[in-house]
Amino acid sequence: MRAADSFGLGADRRIFWRYAGGSVVGVTTVAVVEDDPNILAAVARGLTERGHVVSGASSGLVALGEIVDQRPDVVVLDLGLPDIDGLELLRMLRAVTNVPVIVATARDDEGEIIRTLDAGADEYVVKPYSAEQLDARIRAVLRRVRESDVDEPVQVGGLTVDSRSRVATIDGQVMDLSRKEFDLLWHLVTRRGEVVSKRELLAAVWRQSYGGPEKTVDVHLSWLRNKLGESARSPRYLRSVRGVGVMLVEPDDA
Ligand code: CA
Repeated sequence: MRAADSFGLGADRRIFWRYAGGSVVGVTTVAVVEDDPNILAAVARGLTERGHVVSGASSGLVALGEIVDQRPDVVVLDLGLPDIDGLELLRMLRAVTNVPVIVATARDDEGEIIRTLDAGADEYVVKPYSAEQLDARIRAVLRRVRESDVDEPVQVGGLTVDSRSRVATIDGQVMDLSRKEFDLLWHLVTRRGEVVSKRELLAAVWRQSYGGPEKTVDVHLSWLRNKLGESARSPRYLRSVRGVGVMLVEPDDA
C-alpha cells in the first residue's frame, strides 16, 4: 500500500509525508495531524481506501506550515500533540484559513468539546473512532461548506450577510464578527422571520445535538446584539421570544 510506504520518519526526520496518489480532480484531500504513528497509519489507510488523498503530520508546527502551504480540503486534528497544544494550533489555523477542521478528542468531555468548537472546530470525533465514522464527518463538513458556497448574500433591512466571503455589513459598515458570531448570524438570517430555538442554534452552530449549555448561545447573542447596535431591552433585528428562542426580523425603523 502506497501510503504505508511513505510512513515513519525519513533520514532527514521530516515528519510530514504525503500519499503520492493524489492530484485527481474531485478527490478530497485530508491532512491528518496525529502524533501516534499507529493511529495515523490506521486513519490514513481507512481514508485512502475510501477514496481520499491523505497527508499526515505528527507535530503541530509542521502541520501548520504544511496546511497553509498545501491547502487541504479538510483537516483532522488530534488535540494531544507533542510540541503545541491542539487548541492553540486550531486558533493559529483559524487566524489564517477557513479550512474545515475536525477535532479528535481523547475523552467524551463536554467542556473540552465546547472549547474546541468555540475555538473554531467544525466537527469532532471521540477517540477511538472508526475510519467509517471519520469519513462520514468529513462528508458532512464538506456538504456544509459546499451548501454555504452556493448561497447568495442575504439582505434584511440594513443588514447584509454573505456566506461566501463570510462578511456581514450593517448600514454599509463591515461588522467585526468572530467565526461563531458569523455562523450564528448566518443561521438566523437564513431563518429570518421564524423563531429559532436555542437548542437548534446549539445544534447548528455548535454541533451540540444533545442539548448543551444554552448560556453559550445567550452570550454570543448578546455580543451579536452589541455589534448590531442594539440591546435586549431595545431590540431591532434580534427579537427574543421568551421560553422559545430568538427571531431575526427587519426592524420597524429600517
Ligand atoms: Ca496525541
